[in-house]
Formats: sequence, structure tokens, C-alpha cells
Amino acid sequence: MLPGCPIRVTLIAFTLLMIVVIRPHTPPDLVEEVIREISLLGYTPNPIRGECQTVVAAIGDETTHASLESLNALAQVERVIRVQKRYKLASRQSHPETTVIDAGGVKIGGADFVLMAGPCSVESEEQLMVSARAVKAAGATVLRGGAYKPRTSPYEFQGLGPEGLRMLAAARAETGLRIITEVLGEHDVDLVAGTADILQIGARNAQNFRLLVACARSGKPVLLKRGMSMRIEEWLLAAEYLLAHGNPNVILCERGIRTFEDYTRNTLDLAAVAIAKQETHLPVIVDPSQGCGRADLVKVLCRGAAAVGADGLIIEVHPNPAEALSDGQQQLDPEAFATLVGELRPFVQAAGRSF
Ligand code: PEP
Ligand code: MN
Repeated sequence: MLPGCPIRVTLIAFTLLMIVVIRPHTPPDLVEEVIREISLLGYTPNPIRGECQTVVAAIGDETTHASLESLNALAQVERVIRVQKRYKLASRQSHPETTVIDAGGVKIGGADFVLMAGPCSVESEEQLMVSARAVKAAGATVLRGGAYKPRTSPYEFQGLGPEGLRMLAAARAETGLRIITEVLGEHDVDLVAGTADILQIGARNAQNFRLLVACARSGKPVLLKRGMSMRIEEWLLAAEYLLAHGNPNVILCERGIRTFEDYTRNTLDLAAVAIAKQETHLPVIVDPSQGCGRADLVKVLCRGAAAVGADGLIIEVHPNPAEALSDGQQQLDPEAFATLVGELRPFVQAAGRSF
């Protein structure tokens, strides 16, 4: 696609069922007007005529971009109801079996509970290697670490960029851990995908549709964070972008949303995890570190995540959180991480997962 062109979903045609409810006691000529409009919009109308009210079941193709919601503009239309979910490829309606993703040999969404861990940011070769060895020894199979950091202030540490990617590749070569790292912009996708086993799309970019499309095209598994003020449906529709653009390897990640509460950095929404598991067939990972922003709460939130059916966790671990260049307040040191993992085991097993 050329730069500047609108994003289009061109590949997949969907049959859409809509119900158009016409107001009671509408004169027959105005009922016929609605039925005519439905046909003009490319849908097949099937009127169901009651004694004083008609509803029309309409079947068509959503990729014509006519969802029939525009019929609300007619005075005699009471409402237009969509029957299917808006996120068709992500939904369990269309895909009842749970998806298991293979990220460089690590299976996500299957029987195993997956641990991803590592520093918020890649800061140096030594910091990353100490973290990698520690999280591996404690049971993690995926190493996290941002080489490109989305920081609120331009004066804060922005990440080491390509040098950080090189360090992540070296950590993988030494430890065998798979790598998850954030991609900030669509122009970085190829570079980051050259190192990452899983591309992370951050909360601040969760509705950056061009980035979603570019990540979809990379073919790499993508972990999609929930945006900090995203409703669940919006999050699942962002996942739908990845799926609709041909990437089936989508992992959802709940990382807390912004609320009025200020005892925690974000409000970790564990109900959203249970809902995402019910509504979709995709694996769901929980990030308790961004989710609460407090090292002292990470351990108990991990237990909650396992209990509501999460498929794994992504946890920030730093050799010396007090000296971290980002998110020091929420990172665990290696010892606390090892304790967390040991104490988590019975909770994960009680949830029916192996660990
Ligand atoms: C992170 O994982 O360090 C991060 C910036 O995450 P989020 O996009 O969830 O804020
Ligand atoms: Mn962080």
C-alpha cells in the first residue's frame, strides 16, 4: 500500500445479518420505503410483518461498507440491530477452538502457563544479561525488554534503539529465551521483527492502525496491549485489524486502564481478561507491572491473573530497580521474581495449567 492511502480490508468478505426495526403503526408505503433502501444498500431484505409492526432481517456483505446503521436516519426506523460481533475473526462465534500460538517454539494459549519477564528497558549489555539469566533460572521462557521506549516526556530515556536490539539478540543466543520487544512506529517494524520473536504493540499505540497493519504484515506473533482508555470492544477490534490483515498470531495483553484511582498507576482489569477469554479464541496475557505500577502488588496480581484464566504473564524484572532508567517503582529484583514464581505455582496449577 502506498503511503497516504487509506487502510482497507480487501481480502475477506463477511455475511452480515442486521435487523431493522420499523416503528409500530408505520403506513405500508413507508415500510416499503425501508425495504427498498435495504435492497439499494446491497442487502437482501426479509420482512417479518406483525399485526402492527414490521421488522426486516437483512443479509449482506459488510465489506461494501454499508452496515445499514445509516437507516436510522429514516424517521420510521426505530432502530437497527447488529446480530454478529464486530470482531468476527477474533470472536469465538466464528472460531470456537482456542488458538495456540507458536512464538519461536514457545506455545502461548495452550496447556502451559507462559512467563515473560525482563527489564522495562534494555539499558546495557550487563543489565540485560543479568536479567535474562535470572528470569530464565526462575522459569521464564520469554525475555522482555524495550529497545524503543514510548515515554511521556521527551526528556526521559527513550531506549537504546538498534543497539538494544543487538543486546536482545545476544541474550537470546546465550540463554535460548525468546524475545518480546516493543515496536513504536510502522517504519521500525522490519528492523524490530529482525530480532523479536514477538512484537509488542504498546498501550499508547494500540489504535495506531497503520502500525497494526504493518505488524500484521511482518508475519511475527504480535502481543497487543490494551490501550489505557480502550473499551474491551475497541481492544478486540484492534486485534481484528491484525487478523484481518492476515496475521493469525495475535496475543492480547491486559495492562491496566486509567481510572480515577491513584493508589495504583493503572487499574488492572481482570474482568477484561475473563471477558477476552470468553469472547475470543486468542491467548490473553496479563501485565501486572504496568497494571498497578507497584512492585509490592505484582505478586498478588499474578495470582489473580492465573485464577481468571490468563494464559501467562509479562513481568518487569531489573537487577537493581532503584537504578532503572524507566519504571523503577514497579520492577522486581531477581530474588523477588524467583520468590513470586515459586509461590505462584500452586495458583497456576489450581487453574488447571502446567507451569
Ligand atoms: C512496557 O511494557 O514497558 C510498556 C511501556 O507498556 P505499556 O505499553 O503497557 O505502557
Ligand atoms: Mn515499563
